[in-house]
Amino acid sequence: MSVERTLTILKPDCVRKGLIGEVTKRIQEAGFHIVAMKMMHLSSTTAGGFYEVHRERPFFGELCDFMSSGPCVPMVLEKENAVADFRTFIGATNPAEAEAGTIRADFADSVGENIIHGSDSVENGKIESNYFFAESEIVANKG
Ligand code: ATP
Ligand code: MG
Repeated sequence: MSVERTLTILKPDCVRKGLIGEVTKRIQEAGFHIVAMKMMHLSSTTAGGFYEVHRERPFFGELCDFMSSGPCVPMVLEKENAVADFRTFIGATNPAEAEAGTIRADFADSVGENIIHGSDSVENGKIESNYFFAESEIVANKG
């Protein structure tokens, strides 16, 4: 296995619920190294650009409204096998189907408001990290 980079976003519902600290603690305890993070309030256009692949889906408008409804916290994470391990860690898109103990099972209210994002491939981990962070904003992981 090799060290991979994945992009997460603590979504606006995570921030509104006061869960930045709790979720970040769990991310670190699970062995993911935070190598970049910031708080941003996305415009609908920036949110739509991030979820471009879903533009034709019926929920796209709702998704852009939600992701631009308040501040969010994007982070770049590094770990061996980070992409797949992080998807396991956050749980299924629909929290009703997410495994017990995952972030979405524990904290999310609905498929539309599901607390956290995780990249779905190594390639997208790189593309999405670059969507929010310049390479100069990503620090070296000293383990
Ligand atoms: P994310 O990309 O945010 O990590 P995901 O990879 O688990 O989520 P995707 O299929 O990429 O799921 O969908 C992106 C986001 O769009 C979901 O997190 C969810 O907020 C929203 N979404 C997906 N499917 C639906 C749906 N059927 N109804 C409403 N919103 C949806
Ligand atoms: Mg996705």
